[in-house]
Amino acid sequence: MGQIALEQVAKSFGDVNVIQPLDLTIEDGEFCVFVGPSGCGKSTLLRLIAGLEDITSGAIRIDGVDASDTPPAKRGLAMVFQSYALYPHMTVRKNIAFPMKMSGVPEAEQKRRIEAAAKALNLTDYLDRRPGQLSGGQRQRVAIGRAIVREPAAFLFDEPLSNLDAALRVGMRLEISELHKRLKTTMVYVTHDQVEAMTMADKIVVLRAGNIEQIGSPLELYRNPRNLFVAGFIGSPRMNLIEGNAAAQHGAATIGIRPEHIEVAENGPWRGTVGVAEHLGSDTFLHVLGTGLAESLTVRATGEVGLRFGDAVALAPREDQIHRFDASGMRIA
Ligand code: ADP
Ligand code: MG
Repeated sequence: MGQIALEQVAKSFGDVNVIQPLDLTIEDGEFCVFVGPSGCGKSTLLRLIAGLEDITSGAIRIDGVDASDTPPAKRGLAMVFQSYALYPHMTVRKNIAFPMKMSGVPEAEQKRRIEAAAKALNLTDYLDRRPGQLSGGQRQRVAIGRAIVREPAAFLFDEPLSNLDAALRVGMRLEISELHKRLKTTMVYVTHDQVEAMTMADKIVVLRAGNIEQIGSPLELYRNPRNLFVAGFIGSPRMNLIEGNAAAQHGAATIGIRPEHIEVAENGPWRGTVGVAEHLGSDTFLHVLGTGLAESLTVRATGEVGLRFGDAVALAPREDQIHRFDASGMRIA
């Protein structure tokens, strides 16, 4: 079991309110991602759940039981950090065994759990190595292994992939998702990277300045961002935001349209000049200047598009894909 419920949870450091009172329920077995810009309170919120910080007000319930004052070790949660914090002089096996040794798990049971974790993480052949003899990705897997053997009610990850290079990050992202599918244990995962959030989460919690901006599945947030902040944060490249006359015509202060919802079309109503064209092979992202709508519009075209810097281009937005926002930045239904 591993349901985590936050009720009016708030946190201040001195007189600085870092987490505003918020409600959130993470269901048993769910993969929940906290995402938001640096400094928005993601780590603090995770540390409150872990018990590494005391809540200033509100309550945290784990499987229905008030855990607000329960010390971290008694919450049944296991945390994995960005820095793996492995013991360099211990083998992988001993590193993974460490938390079980501390809590007095019998030797035979330790062995069983180490082998199961090593198998789940493809570390079986590395159990007798020391961390210095492993790659960054393998070290992060050892850190995850150390969490798995505790058989926690939930895993708490704080930007576990930030220290890895881009290719490894993609690989580990998949591994953690697969691990979740197999273990079916609740995972709460903090990242500033919206691509990680989109690709891994069952449920995304978008945070800004200690507030929850929106909660939903990746596609719910992508299709129906509640406000301009979420619209701009979720999706890469970002949604185009247009103010002024073009927005007023739609009865909005701002309209938003994603790069894949603008087509290069000979008789399209929007006209401009191609600035940078980013060729990714599969797609080309055109940055179109001089439309008078926004400084630059990003348009997703095919990989083979023949347009280049300085070419005149006409664009057609897909009307049914236009998002409308009012002057306060909230979505207009
Ligand atoms: P994130 O993980 O989203 O980058 P954090 O949760 O680390 O953000 O921090 C949120 C805010 O709380 C930041 O403004 C940070 O400076 C502040 N903060 C975090 N920990 C402390 C602390 N121990 N004392 C004072 N301020 C803190
Ligand atoms: Mg952080």
